Amino acid sequence: MKAAVFDGQDISIKEVPIPRLGESQALIQIKASGICGTDIAIVKGDLPTPTPIILGHEFAGEVIEVGKKIDKNWEGKHVTSEINSNIDFSCYYCERKIFSQCLSRQALGIDINGSFAEYIVVEPYMLHEIPRKISYKEATFIEPLAAAYQTFEMMPLADEDRVIAIYGLGKLGLLLTQVALAKGLDVIAVDGSNTKLSLAEKYGAKRVINRFEVENISDAIKSSTDNLGADIVVDTTGNPEALIDIVASCKTRGKTHI
Ligand SMILES: [Zn+2]
Repeated sequence: MKAAVFDGQDISIKEVPIPRLGESQALIQIKASGICGTDIAIVKGDLPTPTPIILGHEFAGEVIEVGKKIDKNWEGKHVTSEINSNIDFSCYYCERKIFSQCLSRQALGIDINGSFAEYIVVEPYMLHEIPRKISYKEATFIEPLAAAYQTFEMMPLADEDRVIAIYGLGKLGLLLTQVALAKGLDVIAVDGSNTKLSLAEKYGAKRVINRFEVENISDAIKSSTDNLGADIVVDTTGNPEALIDIVASCKTRGKTHI
C-alpha cells in the first residue's frame, strides 16, 4: 500500500506492506484523513516520535476485515477511530475510566503507525460507526471535535459563565469556538491570523482580537467584559509565553483551561 512515511527528516509517499491483522483487530481501508497540529509539530521536529512512522490520527474509512476474535458485523461499516491504541483496561487510569491516559496507550501516528496510508489496523474498542449521511471527509473532524467537546466535560460550565476567551484558532480553536457557541457562550477569539479570525466571526464570535494589533491582549479582553475578564479562558496554542496573558484575561475566580 501507499503511505506517507516520516523518516525523522522528511515525509514522503512510500510503498509499504499492508499492516498485518491481529486476531483482536479490525483492518480499515482509509478513505479520508485530517491533518492535525500534532502531525505538523512532528514534521517540524517539535515532537519526537519513533521513526520511520506513518503519521495521522484523524481518519475515517471502511472496515474491510476483522480478526477471528472480533464481531464480523463490523465488516462493511463506515467508521472513525479514537487515537489511543493498546489500552490495558487495568492500570491506575483505566480503573478510573480515564482510558485516554492509560499508562500503556500508544497513540496512532505518534507512537505507532497512523492513518496517512491506504490501510490501518486498530482495536475495535477505538472504533465508532459513522452514519452514512456523514461523509468520510466530514467524519475526519469527529476526533478533533471530540477533543473540543471534552474541554467542557473536564471543565463543566457554571450558570453564571457567559464569556469564553479562546486563544488560538487552529483546528481545535475553531472547533472549540463552535462548541462554545452551541453551548450559548459569548466567544472572544484571539489569534494572529485575520483569515482565521474572520472565520471565527462568521461562526458567531462576539469579538475577535488580532494579537499583533493590540498592545495588550488581556486589556483588550477586559475592555469587552466590563473590565472583569472572561469567565473562562481556554488556550489551544500550547505556547508557554501566552500563559501570563491567559491568566490575566480571566476574571477573579474564573476558569482557565490549558
Ligand atoms: Zn490502562
